[in-house]
Amino acid sequence: MKIHENKEGEISKTKHHYTVVIDEQKGLYTSAVTMKGLRQPIHVQKITHGSNESYCENIACHFLKDTAVRGSNMAYECPHLRSVQYAKHADVAVMQTSSLASLVEDGIITMEKHLEILNMNQKSVENKSPLIVRIPNDFSTSKRYIFFSVYSEDIRYWSRLDRTVTTNDNRRN
Ligand SMILES: [Zn+2]
Repeated sequence: MKIHENKEGEISKTKHHYTVVIDEQKGLYTSAVTMKGLRQPIHVQKITHGSNESYCENIACHFLKDTAVRGSNMAYECPHLRSVQYAKHADVAVMQTSSLASLVEDGIITMEKHLEILNMNQKSVENKSPLIVRIPNDFSTSKRYIFFSVYSEDIRYWSRLDRTVTTNDNRRN
């Protein structure tokens, strides 16, 4: 079990968490929580120019970081942040409000979500952030789940990066 854990910590070009560029300007990415299985994305931030700020919203990584810092390893980065160097440059499709309506029709988002996104649209423009980014699913033959990174100013205690992940489950349609 220990050996397994150690191996999980190794990040390389061929073995890393599936990571996608969301907003290069702000150093925002999504990284899959796990290397295998569903690969539920979470948001991470890694700024490499100017300040060296980095943040992973995975709660388990906060504990890893705290432990490392207590052990004087100030430069510690969790596996998600270390995977950023291998991030895929997705076709960042900045969706227009007109195409949001078809997402509602197709059952990909609810009407409530639609209105929420419309409200956020203006703010995302002001913030120069992409409103909604479809995270490419090219790691799996299963097309059951589609993940989106959505701009949101609804900052919860566990998310300070102004974005949330929305999931569509095809089997529910
Ligand atoms: Zn992490």
